[in-house]
Amino acid sequence: MHDIIIIGAGPAGLTAAIYARRAGRSVLLIEKETFGGQIVLSPHVENYPFARPMSGTELSDILVEQVMNLGADVEVDKVIGITENRDKTFTVKTEYGEHTARAVIIATGLKHRRMGIENEEKFIGRGISFCAVCDGAFFKGKTVAVVGGGNTAVQDAIYLSKLASKVYLVHRRDEFRAEKHVVAGLSACDNVELVLSSIPKAVGGEGSLSSFTVENKLTGETRELNVDGVFVAIGQEPSNSAFSELIELDESGFIAADESCRTRNPAVFVAGDCRTKAVRQLVTAGADGGVAAIAACEYLDREDAMAV
Ligand SMILES: Cc1cc2nc3c(=O)[nH]c(=O)nc-3n(C[C@H](O)[C@H](O)[C@H](O)COP(=O)(O)OP(=O)(O)OC[C@H]3O[C@@H](n4cnc5c(N)ncnc54)[C@H](O)[C@@H]3O)c2cc1C
Repeated sequence: MHDIIIIGAGPAGLTAAIYARRAGRSVLLIEKETFGGQIVLSPHVENYPFARPMSGTELSDILVEQVMNLGADVEVDKVIGITENRDKTFTVKTEYGEHTARAVIIATGLKHRRMGIENEEKFIGRGISFCAVCDGAFFKGKTVAVVGGGNTAVQDAIYLSKLASKVYLVHRRDEFRAEKHVVAGLSACDNVELVLSSIPKAVGGEGSLSSFTVENKLTGETRELNVDGVFVAIGQEPSNSAFSELIELDESGFIAADESCRTRNPAVFVAGDCRTKAVRQLVTAGADGGVAAIAACEYLDREDAMAV
């Protein structure tokens, strides 16, 4: 049995492992796909403090090495459920087995909804981005498209209009789902062109992205936009449903927690993009990881003190 099982080895889970190991707790880190999480998709990270600009893979490698040097146990497997036992321990079930721990930190991150078009995966990180705040600065003076009709898409278009020379805002309906006051902000952006009732069809380019084809749903006409980047803002998908009996999820499936990353279960903590929060970035994921691990260690210290 481990003191703490951490589910997900993105920046949040890895940082939690560092803090928990340094507090002397045994840790099992379970990751289903890629150690490093979402950021491995990024070829260029410039906004992580204390680090020179580098690729997401490079950044992850440093973090994973730090965790391994501190002696965390790791397992590549997908967690499919958690059961709370009568003796206050937890059984964490995976596709290939099960593990027990006295506390659990959930750091499962999220997936950005894809457009589902030709060449999309090939251009992620090479022109396709899911984060205007992360990648907008790479498109200074260039032409970009934003896809979506909610608050995030409209806010991204407004944000990018201050950096890019031209922004196409592509939305499948003829009006936005975003709140009225957010949409009103578009009127001050001369360089934003609305491409409404239109759906993405394909992206193309030699090496990096240079074209984005959209189809007008009403006329069936296709239009090729000459763009350097496409920002996709059509939703985020957390995968927390396997934990819904143990903890509280918000209406979008993110995990509700307090500022100390505590959930309604005193021995279950949550860190990073998978929790309800306003800013989903490397720094906030790392900060959550540290906070959640400290809260988990304090919980274990209290339990140990009571057992004496
Ligand atoms: C292309 C791209 C570029 C980005 N660029 C930047 C940037 O420049 N600057 C910045 O600050 N942020 C950037 N971000 C955002 C940043 O990557 C995220 O905010 C950060 O990775 C969140 O960390 P996390 O640990 O919470 O989640 P994630 O990174 O999503 O990690 C969660 C991990 O949990 C694993 N997992 C999920 N479910 C299970 C399960 N059931 N069992 C086991 N494992 C599971 C996943 O496989 C994943 O590895 C970028 C994101 C993307 C996609």
